[in-house]
Amino acid sequence: MNAAVTESPIQLHRPAKPVAPAAGPWTREAVLALMEKPFMELVQQAHAVHREHWPDGDIELASLLSVKTGGCPEDCGYCPQSVHYDTGVDASKLMAPDAVLEAARAAQQAGATRFCMGAAWRSPNDRDVEKVAELVRGVRGLGLQTCATLGMLSPSQAGTLAEAGLDYYNHNLDSAPDFYPTIIGTRQYQDRLDTLKNVRDAGIHVCCGGIVGMGETRDQRAGLVAELANLNPPPESVPVNDLVRVEGTPLAEGLKESAPLDPFEVVRVIAAARITMPGSRVRLSAGRRELGDGIQALCFMAGANSIFYGDKLLVTGNPDAEGDRALLQRLDLKTTGQVVAAKG
Ligand code: SF4
Repeated sequence: MNAAVTESPIQLHRPAKPVAPAAGPWTREAVLALMEKPFMELVQQAHAVHREHWPDGDIELASLLSVKTGGCPEDCGYCPQSVHYDTGVDASKLMAPDAVLEAARAAQQAGATRFCMGAAWRSPNDRDVEKVAELVRGVRGLGLQTCATLGMLSPSQAGTLAEAGLDYYNHNLDSAPDFYPTIIGTRQYQDRLDTLKNVRDAGIHVCCGGIVGMGETRDQRAGLVAELANLNPPPESVPVNDLVRVEGTPLAEGLKESAPLDPFEVVRVIAAARITMPGSRVRLSAGRRELGDGIQALCFMAGANSIFYGDKLLVTGNPDAEGDRALLQRLDLKTTGQVVAAKG
């Protein structure tokens, strides 16, 4: 590990930065018009918005742990954890609290300030939610921000997690409403919106984004960004994933004759998210390893200010933590932990 960028664990119970109002409402056409701007003009505009709203320019390091892997009854066409596809991912039970806390401590030692726990459920039962609430209390007790992604939640389940102190709930819209049925058949777009409302009503911050590179059009990518920006308020965290084609999933099979999405298109999506959701953390998520350092630098320029950090993203690969630290150092970018520590 590079000693120059090693961090000490910090206590981080600050409330999330208040979200600036979205500069919307945004029509899909308006977002598309943004994304169709000359590339440099778009990046420059997004960078100006970013500097205005995020003067520290820090990059949040969020660590993600799969606390219950595989065996999911949903049929998301990109996901190796679905029970419908043969991807070699074995189903496991919910991890024991000690093991989760050990992973959270390790993530904190490595500089992460947010710890996300993912479980492959369609919708957890109330006992599962109680168990996750215990995990939330434990992780929060370490001084980390907590996030969970467990599938669809009822209002009372969201309330249980809120009482445990859950800071964020991740529930992605995945894509534009008109592309959604192409990739998922076991639930409706409205189901996602309902859970997001339950989470919001319980007072939990929302982490919500999507995936690009699934065969959608640019217009549909604009549609996703418009949907996110028009949530009221917009999500505090917006993960942008570039599809990782995992063998055995329908999308990997269906796209095998197609070239991967042009990486500059990912930068355009990041820029559009930054401009339309100026106060949100825009997280460059799955697919970073494939994008490479240069494109990631452009994404930071265009307003990405959060990354998933750690060697594994649920069940797919991610750049190693040491490589990430080195990249941030090469770009003279500070992590949130470093900025908070410097401010005392
Ligand atoms: S993305 Fe989530 S809901 Fe969909 S199959 Fe995978 S684990 Fe299940």
